[in-house]
Amino acid sequence: PAKEKININNLLDETTGFLDNEARYVNIKIEKAYADDVPVITSDLSQIQQVVLNLLNNAIDAIGKDGIITVGSRYLAKSGQVELWVADTGKGMSEAELSKIFDPFFTTKAIGKGTGLGLSISYSIIEKLGGTIRVQSAVGKGTTFTITLPKN
Ligand code: ADP
Ligand code: MG
Repeated sequence: PAKEKININNLLDETTGFLDNEARYVNIKIEKAYADDVPVITSDLSQIQQVVLNLLNNAIDAIGKDGIITVGSRYLAKSGQVELWVADTGKGMSEAELSKIFDPFFTTKAIGKGTGLGLSISYSIIEKLGGTIRVQSAVGKGTTFTITLPKN
């Protein structure tokens, strides 16, 4: 995988930028909660962008119309890891659903709308980059995906 120096806050700005218009159209506000002490990391920019883009698309789908997506970053100084998250005020998921979302081809979307591959690919990408991906969700309230990545 390509290795370059990445400013996570810039990456989040750029990636949310791709979806600004689409989000505005369905009245979804994209809020930023960036830490200002996040160090530059050495990793694979386009792969991380692909993961974040998938999380954002899922968040838009989960909200449908009228809601908030928050993207944030944080430096975990003790472990030397950088954390980023994508939180939405969408429909949320049950425990049964949550247990399947990283499986290839699991989708609740209409035929042609979802391949069910986004999260399984995202999971392998993050694993290969030495990071972790986890999820918290509450039905009717929303979902947060959190990714940690090593500095190098
Ligand atoms: P796809 O988007 O093609 O369905 P994904 O692997 O990206 O495939 O997601 C799998 C499934 O996980 C989705 O169909 C949906 O049921 C669930 N899911 C993913 N992200 C969210 C979210 N933010 N809120 C609610 N459900 C979600
Ligand atoms: Mg998806």
